[in-house]
Amino acid sequence: MYDYLIIGAGVTGITLCKKLKEKGIQNVVVLEAGKEAGGLCTTKVINGHVLDIGGGHFFGTKHQEVYDYIFSHIPESEFNFIPRVSKQLIGETTIDYPIESNLWQLPQTEQISYLISVIRNGESLGKPEPKNYEEWIRWKLGDKICDTYMIPYNTKLWGVTPAEMDVDWLYKIPRVNVEEVLKYSLDRKQDVTKFPAHIGFYYPKKGGFQAIFDAIYKDEASNVVLNTPVTKMQYQADGTWLINEQYQAKNVINTAPWPDLFKALGEPSALKDDFAKMQYNRIVVSLYEKDYDINWHWRYVPDINRRYHREFYISNFAFDSKKNGIYIETNIKRFQGDDPIMGTKALAHFETQAAYPIPVIGHAQAIKNVLDYYHSQHLFGVGRWGQWQYQNADVSMYEAIKFVQNINI
Ligand SMILES: Cc1cc2nc3c(=O)[nH]c(=O)nc-3n(C[C@H](O)[C@H](O)[C@H](O)COP(=O)(O)OP(=O)(O)OC[C@H]3O[C@@H](n4cnc5c(N)ncnc54)[C@H](O)[C@@H]3O)c2cc1C
Repeated sequence: MYDYLIIGAGVTGITLCKKLKEKGIQNVVVLEAGKEAGGLCTTKVINGHVLDIGGGHFFGTKHQEVYDYIFSHIPESEFNFIPRVSKQLIGETTIDYPIESNLWQLPQTEQISYLISVIRNGESLGKPEPKNYEEWIRWKLGDKICDTYMIPYNTKLWGVTPAEMDVDWLYKIPRVNVEEVLKYSLDRKQDVTKFPAHIGFYYPKKGGFQAIFDAIYKDEASNVVLNTPVTKMQYQADGTWLINEQYQAKNVINTAPWPDLFKALGEPSALKDDFAKMQYNRIVVSLYEKDYDINWHWRYVPDINRRYHREFYISNFAFDSKKNGIYIETNIKRFQGDDPIMGTKALAHFETQAAYPIPVIGHAQAIKNVLDYYHSQHLFGVGRWGQWQYQNADVSMYEAIKFVQNINI
């Protein structure tokens, strides 16, 4: 009988395992569907290119606990701290991110129409804050930024239209007001200090983003059972869980996408609608070789006629990587094999199983209902999938640390 059984051996599952053991709860098992641990934080070296196969991953956090946690496993000296250079392709022009702070980098005739549109946005006109994402970005940024950047980019990334999406995750994107947009345009300079996460990021000197995972994983590997997808979860009369008809546990913590467990949980009819509101997208990461002489780390590509939405210049942040590696991220719904824009054959394509929980309208209530329903049965959810939130790895680790801190023994 295990005290805790954890579903999924990504950064959340491994952090939970480590912290439970540190708290004196030694009887812990982690079941992982894949043949390797790491989840989205996995790196492969392909033809000398250090490729984060879950997509573009960079480390930084507002939680000191997470820096302390990571740097106690892999010293800060094994990272480079790199000032962030992220761009956006607007029409034919590449400008700094975010668009609203850098309109002055566009051709002058374009700047005027963007600025007029920003000034006429719903917020400036005193209109009430809308409740779906498309209306919200129109209200906040004006039609022009919305139509040329926000709508096409988000449609490409999420694979659903912004009109279907909620506004409760918008703390993730930079918010500037009209005065700031105008000031940055007149000064021809944005204030990057307004968004600390945009100043720079840590990236491991060697081994890609997975070096972070490997550092926390090594002492937990013996608690992990690989190649073991959870396919059956039975809550028994004695108040314990029987998982896959083999593992008995007093408590279960899920870090995997909930919809993938719906069948395993016996398709609970009371939660059918909630599970249906939990949707995730999948992306394909494709590696290409192409010479480049730019200093960008990545560029957002909203053009709806291009299949992919983001491109990364690997050797500009992974200094142990070969010089001419570029990878692109494409929503799996738009993926059609090698991308014509890249003009050459990809060295490799990797599909994520689940990439982002999509914030469709109603998703927040749905996850609340699921977590409330199972709480009394000692089945919990932690991390990006377990809590069904757009969390980065640092936040998922923070939530795992907090979850264990709050356990009373
Ligand atoms: C494109 C992209 C870019 C990102 N960029 C960043 C970034 O720059 N910085 C950052 O910090 N974070 C970034 N993230 C987020 C980061 O990847 C996640 O927050 C973090 O990896 C979540 O870890 P996790 O352990 O919760 O989930 P995961 O890493 O997804 O791990 C879940 C694990 O559960 C396993 N599993 C699934 N189903 C089952 C089952 N039925 N039974 C058993 N096991 C199962 C999976 O195989 C997987 O190993 C990015 C994510 C994406 C997709």
